Amino acid sequence: MAKAMKIIGRMKCTCCGEVVPVKEQSNGLAIVTCNFCDNKMQAFGKVADGHIRLKMNPVVSDIPANPVGVAAPVPAQPKKSFFDLSL
Ligand SMILES: [Zn+2]
Repeated sequence: MAKAMKIIGRMKCTCCGEVVPVKEQSNGLAIVTCNFCDNKMQAFGKVADGHIRLKMNPVVSDIPANPVGVAAPVPAQPKKSFFDLSL
């Protein structure tokens, strides 16, 4: 099995216009494979790679951002004592 290619961005398919992932080949050049219309656009050099990267919206990671432990700050509230009977 070939290693899964890293998703580096998303762009509209030049053929059908659907938004498809842009992946990076093992040689570092971009490749776009459209699962909607079976179009394939593969960069074989830095010029084509640059054009594809200009068209795409880069993604930092293909792992969805899911920050853990970042909760909204709870406003401090005065503690009410059980023995506070000042009514
Ligand atoms: Zn397409």
